[in-house]
Amino acid sequence: MTIGIIGGGIAGLASAIALAKIGKQVDVFEKASAFEEVGAGLQIGPNAVSALKALGAYKAIEPHAFAPEQILIRDGLTGKLLNRLHLGDSFEKLFKQPYRVIHRADLLNGLLETAKSYDSINLHTSKPLVSLDLNKDTNECTFADDTTSNHDLLIGADGFRSIVRRHIINDGPPVYAGHSLFRSLIPIENIEHINDIKDVNLWLYPHGHVVHYPVSNGEQINIVAAVEQNWEKRGWSLPADTSQVLEHFKNAHDSLMAIISQPQGWLKWAAAGHPFSKIWHKNNALLVGDAVHPTLPYMAQGAAMAIEDAVCLGSHIKNQRPVSEYAQTRQARTQKIVETSTRLGKIYHMTNPTRLARNMVIKSTSSNSQFKRMSWLYSWRAPNL
Ligand SMILES: Cc1cc2nc3c(=O)[nH]c(=O)nc-3n(C[C@H](O)[C@H](O)[C@H](O)COP(=O)(O)OP(=O)(O)OC[C@H]3O[C@@H](n4cnc5c(N)ncnc54)[C@H](O)[C@@H]3O)c2cc1C
Repeated sequence: MTIGIIGGGIAGLASAIALAKIGKQVDVFEKASAFEEVGAGLQIGPNAVSALKALGAYKAIEPHAFAPEQILIRDGLTGKLLNRLHLGDSFEKLFKQPYRVIHRADLLNGLLETAKSYDSINLHTSKPLVSLDLNKDTNECTFADDTTSNHDLLIGADGFRSIVRRHIINDGPPVYAGHSLFRSLIPIENIEHINDIKDVNLWLYPHGHVVHYPVSNGEQINIVAAVEQNWEKRGWSLPADTSQVLEHFKNAHDSLMAIISQPQGWLKWAAAGHPFSKIWHKNNALLVGDAVHPTLPYMAQGAAMAIEDAVCLGSHIKNQRPVSEYAQTRQARTQKIVETSTRLGKIYHMTNPTRLARNMVIKSTSSNSQFKRMSWLYSWRAPNL
């Protein structure tokens, strides 16, 4: 069986490793001239760690990951601590895997290093897919350089603007969510004096929120500021002025202001995606990662889902299950994550009077009930490959 993967991001490389691990020959076609990720951070929960271990990629990633001790939730207007979730021994004991934070480039490089250790993975760069014929016996891909390739199984891992999705689901271009995400990286030495800077910090704010945590083994702090805003522009790394963030959070408590006033500049992304689709395949082509279930990043699970997809796909094919049944193994879980992310955005951005009620609920939630609530997400275990 010949397998082609379109897209060499997290989903594409993880899928290539999963398939190579079960003895398949795989070609990965990436449109960029190199396999690389731009600056930003990722939270890697126990479910994602489990999937990375199943791929045999965690050992290449772990040395670059940072182990935060807790997640702190605060009200961004008052600065008050609403709750804390300890990520130490009891968390690891319960969910059997640790919680880590990492620079995207470190995660991708770990996957790349693992992929390169397989002779059966052929990595091709500067190969933008431009057209596709899924009706032939072997799916025919045509690239921008006019070359073609044919594959018994084609995997679309080409992100939320996926061309493969267009051929499988055909539900039009991505829809803007009305949220902008500003992100920046700050050297830790600039803000080392700020309390709890080495933890995962979540600040709730009317019509927005801020998340920050260490990456690059603790050398930098990744900050993401989410803002409700009807701004629609294509591009993942559009430069944005600091004043845009400060204007939105102008009533922030001093302790939040101390963080968001640090960056000299931000990169901006107008969040966009597709409504959740039940169609995931056509003939012998299927979708994984953001190409099939793009999500607002408020559960910090987009990359995690992509890595889970890869392991489940590997296991599915190893067990000789039909492509048409793959979606059944993933849809309920991914739909719940996508819908919960959207709901969390609404909760994080509440204004008075619901903001006050929300704060009381968060404050009164015990660690035990928080753990219980997260069990469906974090107790997921990767199948063996
Ligand atoms: C601000 C922010 C914070 C986030 N935080 C987290 C987090 O904490 N934890 C988490 O798990 N997730 C997080 N996510 C989500 C995560 O980044 C994505 O879900 C993940 O990157 C999806 O990976 P992917 O490989 O499916 O898609 P992508 O990363 O988009 O990769 C797609 C790849 O396909 C290539 N490609 C596209 N079109 C073509 C073509 N025509 N031909 C060939 N190649 C093509 C692209 O160049 C790219 O390399 C966050 C997202 C955002 C925006």
